[in-house]
Amino acid sequence: MSDTLFSKIINREIPADILYEDDQALAFSDINPQAPVHFLVIPKKPIATINDIEPEDREVIGHLYLVAAKLAKEMGFAEEGYRAVMNCNPYGGQTVYHIHLHVLAGKPMGWPPY
Ligand code: 5GP
Repeated sequence: MSDTLFSKIINREIPADILYEDDQALAFSDINPQAPVHFLVIPKKPIATINDIEPEDREVIGHLYLVAAKLAKEMGFAEEGYRAVMNCNPYGGQTVYHIHLHVLAGKPMGWPPY
């Protein structure tokens, strides 16, 4: 898979407001927030889309949700609620082909999301 700008954020080649990092994942603020709180949780492994997740990626994908919930608690919006969503391919609204969990919070979310 070719490098995306998220690989460049992981490698500190372009700047980002980094909220959390460990050996498997990175969380950073979205550059174009769609809610009062909007950050992305990404695996360091460059998986292009949900369709490219392999069985051996189970742990890291689960880990993205654990990071999201940890940050939600630490940032104080866990109880009021939030949305954690991953877009896939054009109809899903995906624009960066390195999977990422969007975490949106700080206002009530609508449904359906279109
Ligand atoms: P997608 O549309 O693929 O689900 O989400 C990509 C997200 O990445 C968008 O919400 C977009 O605002 C965000 N984004 C795109 N380029 C950058 C960037 O250079 N830095 C950061 N922090 N976010 C970005």
